[in-house]
Amino acid sequence: MANSDFDSLYQDLLIEHSKQRHGFGLQPEPAAEVHSLNRSCGDEVTLRLHMDGERVEAVSWEGQGCAISQASASMLSDLVQGMPPEECRDCIAAFRSMLQSRGKDQDAPEQLGDAVALHGVSMYPPRIKCAMLAWVALEDALEQAVPTN
Ligand code: ZN
Repeated sequence: MANSDFDSLYQDLLIEHSKQRHGFGLQPEPAAEVHSLNRSCGDEVTLRLHMDGERVEAVSWEGQGCAISQASASMLSDLVQGMPPEECRDCIAAFRSMLQSRGKDQDAPEQLGDAVALHGVSMYPPRIKCAMLAWVALEDALEQAVPTN
């Protein structure tokens, strides 16, 4: 996908995160690990959730794929450090609804940090899975480590 498809305002952020991937490199002793594939694009991520008591200590990950999938995982890793699991789930839900807004939702949710840069992806439905990949992996990892019921 050409970079010109994105708002130039957010383009730099996307490129930055896809080059300098935050949280990249699996750390030992995860509370949960999830491997996730996006077959339509060939993106792949292995994500580890690290808990510090009641909070998310960090998300470490490794993977390969398109710039969107890699940048999205990097942004996610930045965002959830130190968050309680409930807040993480809220952010994942907000991210999902932003991506499903098809560009209608112009007010990108502030709580998403750098990941608001991906709101333009909502105009390109085939790429939504790329952006969601790591987030769905974290959702699964949270469910394993801190089940909702
Ligand atoms: Zn992709």
